[in-house]
Amino acid sequence: MNLKQGIALMSSVLAFGLATEAGAVCNQTAASTSDRALWNTHGCWQDFFLWQYQAYGLRSGDWSNRGWNNACNVNLEYPKHWNASYLLTYGMADNLSQSFHGTVDYRATAEARSSKFHDSLYHSITDRTDVFGTFTPRFWPWDTDRVETACPLYNATVSNSNPGSRAGDYMHEGWHAYFDKYNFNNGNTGGHRPGPQGACTINGCDYFYFHGIGAYAFGALWENNGTASRFHSPNQVQVEFLCDVADQSQWWVPLSVRQAAASDANARAASRFINGPGYTCGSPRPW
Ligand SMILES: [Zn+2]
Repeated sequence: MNLKQGIALMSSVLAFGLATEAGAVCNQTAASTSDRALWNTHGCWQDFFLWQYQAYGLRSGDWSNRGWNNACNVNLEYPKHWNASYLLTYGMADNLSQSFHGTVDYRATAEARSSKFHDSLYHSITDRTDVFGTFTPRFWPWDTDRVETACPLYNATVSNSNPGSRAGDYMHEGWHAYFDKYNFNNGNTGGHRPGPQGACTINGCDYFYFHGIGAYAFGALWENNGTASRFHSPNQVQVEFLCDVADQSQWWVPLSVRQAAASDANARAASRFINGPGYTCGSPRPW
């Protein structure tokens, strides 16, 4: 915990007192159209969520008042978390001639286990509303890196509260873990470059290191050659994943899921790349 987090925690305790010691939770009254549409394709698959919490390193204390023991209520955060995992585990077409990357890449980026993509990590959740997610490298050698997703990915009234955007954030934060593993410095503004600059309109910018379809074999997303010719930024991995959801997903992935993914990707493409706009979903592939 850094000083800022310590102060934030202290002020929330002071503001709310002991009655809310367990902590606030994100809005739990609804799920978005796309969350419910995807949910209806599996109808709450128990074997999957019993696998998912382990594959993502979830800790019961983090999720106890967020559906940990109510995993079939799609209004709650944990069900939404595993709904997004279901999309990225089963929903991709893995089309060698069209997809940016394969399920094997997206799973390795999101899931907890240590690999060439990142050291071991676990997924937690935060009540912050000013971010979509955070990555925190481990402090103690025996601990693990932490990926947190935040309320804007769970509050149904926010446009990013959909399975594709949530899984897209697993990509983004997972890629900060990749940078941490290989000691790449992507900038000191929350792991990005200060902005606005170039075509990037926010404070927290990336480059888009454009590559052709087939440049990376499935499973090879982690590779780089130390130059811009073979490299990915967090927003880039996120946009490529979201456009694969939008344009190269399984036939049964609902249209609302695909449209929400495209909308998120295209907003990022327009606002987060110094050399933007990067790739726009629906544009022809390959080149
Ligand atoms: Zn790529």
